[in-house]
Amino acid sequence: MAKKIVVIIVVIGALASGLSWMLQKEQGMSHSSANEEGKLRVVTTTTMVTDMVKIIGGERILVQGLMGPGVDPHSYQVTFRDTAALQGADIIFYSGHHLEGKMQDVLEKRAKKHGGVFAVTDGIAKADLLQPEEEFQGYYDPHIWGDPALWAGCLSVVVDALSEADPNGAEQYQERAGRYRDELLALHDWARARIGEIAPEQRVLVTSHDAFHYFGKAFAVEVKGLQGVSTNSESGLKDRSDLVDFIQRRALKTIFPESSVNAKGIRAVAAEAGVQVSEHELFSDAMGEPGDTVTLHGETYDKGSYIGMIKHNVNTLVDGLK
Ligand SMILES: [Zn+2]
Repeated sequence: MAKKIVVIIVVIGALASGLSWMLQKEQGMSHSSANEEGKLRVVTTTTMVTDMVKIIGGERILVQGLMGPGVDPHSYQVTFRDTAALQGADIIFYSGHHLEGKMQDVLEKRAKKHGGVFAVTDGIAKADLLQPEEEFQGYYDPHIWGDPALWAGCLSVVVDALSEADPNGAEQYQERAGRYRDELLALHDWARARIGEIAPEQRVLVTSHDAFHYFGKAFAVEVKGLQGVSTNSESGLKDRSDLVDFIQRRALKTIFPESSVNAKGIRAVAAEAGVQVSEHELFSDAMGEPGDTVTLHGETYDKGSYIGMIKHNVNTLVDGLK
């Protein structure tokens, strides 16, 4: 009997997995190609990881990102469809350091059973990781993409994993990652110069949750979040009044909502402190909609890409505090 149930579950799993990939193709989420046979099926979690993997993998792989724009990875729960996608994947890339708090168990179990599961932030040396001020169960701060130069350190994890599974593509993966690394380092320099336009005493980012400490460290911006490193933590009344005091003491011009967190809390703080909330949301834990391009200060970028996300955040910050 038990055997029969196992067989049924496996069959359902296989069907669902095939169905999920078919759905994905219909929705145009994957690269369409006349010959998709033999391509690596890669599943990713956050939009930033999806972007990185698509850039490095190019047309050699099929990528299915589980979390879309505006999705909070801390509280994200695996859906039935995700389970099927994960089962059908050759390789899974996730961000790591407990960013995907509620998916961690699923990913670890899969890694133990089948292998092929990689946290891109495993490419970062421990010495470069930040310890949250507030307790995050003893884990490191996972918001590493806030620092483009550090984020570039994650590329090697993707290159190595893809190359091992598809040795014929190794050279291409390496090449694309090299070009992307150069773009990320150029982005880093651009952001540093742009933030330099803000008066030093105004270089303060007040936002919904503690997602910007790597960003702050990279670009010498002081960072205050209403909630802790995970959105699963609650902000108390005392946190709120401390933050209001801080904003008033520093005479800040603007504080900032985030695209993946409800803005209610930060709006309440702004009302109490008598400060404006930026009309643009910052992208903290998810990028914008793909194809949502803007032209600002003579530059055009897609807010649905990692590079566009950072450019949008930096421009929003500078325009709000300058
Ligand atoms: Zn976060």
